[in-house]
Amino acid sequence: MATDQYAFTNPAEMYSDFEPSAQYQEGAGLDANLRDKADLGEDTYRGTGRLEGRKALITGGDSGIGGAVAIAYAREGADVAISYLPEEEEDAQRIVSLIEAAGRTAVALPGDITDAAFSRELVATAVEKLGGLDILINNAGKQQFHEDILEISDDEFDATFKTNIYAMFWITKAALAHLKPGSTIINTSSIQGYSPAPHLVDYATTKAAINTFSKALAQQLAPKGIRVNVVAPGPIWTPLQTAGGQPTDQLPDAGSQTPLGRWGQPAELAPAYVFLASGESSYVVGETLNVNGGMPTP
Ligand code: NAD
Ligand code: MG
Repeated sequence: MATDQYAFTNPAEMYSDFEPSAQYQEGAGLDANLRDKADLGEDTYRGTGRLEGRKALITGGDSGIGGAVAIAYAREGADVAISYLPEEEEDAQRIVSLIEAAGRTAVALPGDITDAAFSRELVATAVEKLGGLDILINNAGKQQFHEDILEISDDEFDATFKTNIYAMFWITKAALAHLKPGSTIINTSSIQGYSPAPHLVDYATTKAAINTFSKALAQQLAPKGIRVNVVAPGPIWTPLQTAGGQPTDQLPDAGSQTPLGRWGQPAELAPAYVFLASGESSYVVGETLNVNGGMPTP
């Protein structure tokens, strides 16, 4: 199922054998438990030294998009700290092994980022164990579908905002004490920020807020030499989708709404995060790079 992104290939036909079945996981969900395996670029991503010697912290770096970014960053020459929930240790250890196999330092940081004190401690530990920090990827996210707003409890609404917005705010503030000119922050938004689905009211709202937060902060930090940008994925096959992110019966077809007519894979996201972290994007500030199979965005 691994597809070589370096080969000349029709993108509408890539992963054409990938047709996930309807499936559900409790809790955060694991890559290890996906019945249809996601492609994180394990067999394909080729580094070319674009992040040599850099030090990165990736929230939600155990699986899905964050896992693919962790693999790519290590192969580009970066040391990588990943944050994740304790229940995701199995996925995290697999990514740690892949980072180490690339000859880089891996730091595993289990804990709940909806806790402000933990979010700050997470940054402090990453900085201590990596010996500094110059790339911050706010990528952890909570997405639970509800057909009716009356089904969203106040506690769940709060947890979605704590995970997607407050943690990004806490972690970014803590990181800024360490980020030197040349550093980059990349936040993960979504097509949901522009084209909200009726069953993702709370989640979609956080994703629009991430875009706006990032565009404001990008202007504030640019004079200090720190670039802030955003990646906005479309439908990507990850554990979050199978853990209540979408109605289970809609999973097989969720990619068909895109012009490419298929699900995206985490491996297809990693190069966007590499570009925005590396000096190649030195004049790209406050941008949202959409990686969504062709769905129009503002
Ligand atoms: P994923 O499940 O692999 O990653 C999400 C990660 O968030 C989890 O691995 C978990 O470690 C972390 N997380 C969630 N709650 C946490 C908490 N309280 N404390 C610490 N960590 C926590 O799924 P993914 O799809 O790769 O998600 C990564 C990002 O991409 C999310 O921000 C998501 O909203 C965004 N996104 C995904 C899609 C998609 O189709 N998969 C589309 C658009 C945006
Ligand atoms: Mg995970």
